[in-house]
Amino acid sequence: MHPQKQLAYMILQDVNQGFPYYFLYMKTSITKHTEDHSGWRSFKFEFFCDSCNKKWISPVFPFEAGKVSHIEYEETRSMIWAWEHQRAFEQANLEAHYHFNRCPECYKWVCDNCFDAEGESHYGLCRKCSEKKKNLIKLAPGKLIITNFIGESGLTQNKYIAGHASDGATTLLFAANTSAPTETTVKGAKVIGNSVVLNVFKVKGYGAEPFTGNITMPVSNGKMSLALYEFASEISIGIPEDVYTYTAAITFKNGNATINFASEMEI
Ligand SMILES: [Zn+2]
Ligand SMILES: [Zn+2]
Repeated sequence: MHPQKQLAYMILQDVNQGFPYYFLYMKTSITKHTEDHSGWRSFKFEFFCDSCNKKWISPVFPFEAGKVSHIEYEETRSMIWAWEHQRAFEQANLEAHYHFNRCPECYKWVCDNCFDAEGESHYGLCRKCSEKKKNLIKLAPGKLIITNFIGESGLTQNKYIAGHASDGATTLLFAANTSAPTETTVKGAKVIGNSVVLNVFKVKGYGAEPFTGNITMPVSNGKMSLALYEFASEISIGIPEDVYTYTAAITFKNGNATINFASEMEI
């Protein structure tokens, strides 16, 4: 049976057993909690903010065919009711998009009160995620310590180094910046002596946030797990002068990792 027909059939069965309250297709509602207050004369729905439960009530949609008295069979009337009911729900669900905002972080649909339109560089976030973000930004990032790079094919003194690692799902960025850099403000750490420290950030959207978690960057298909880029200038974007790659899987604990350059990296 065609899925839509099957749905109508199921609704019809519900209708025949009394008044249907929740329907299968209600799962497609934008908000998690929706109530149906439709009756034989009209359709009406309530949508609740995913964060504070504030209610938005849809307009009332009349049951057009309900006014027609020559529909003889109750079964036919129920079938038409089910179709009109579905259309009314779809319309209400569409209008609900204007009354709720989608948080790009937690995917919740929240009311205007629960939405911080200025959050996360003006892309907007729900207030809960926005608060979390603000607290996270204050955290000190983890550190990637690179040691033992004096000598042949080692890092070049007085150049600048930045880097990244990715396991396909998470990308870490290593930079000298003390607060989260954007794509265009990645600063390299100046190479002096025999060890250098880079701060660890996690790339998120167009920006980054301090990384303090645990993750292992694997070597996959013989590809590097981590790369360091050497630049002539402090702002490290564009084409690097040299690229060094880490030859094994590398584990970050609480955002921290150490590399013995001479034994673990290659140009
Ligand atoms: Zn709310
Ligand atoms: Zn959120």
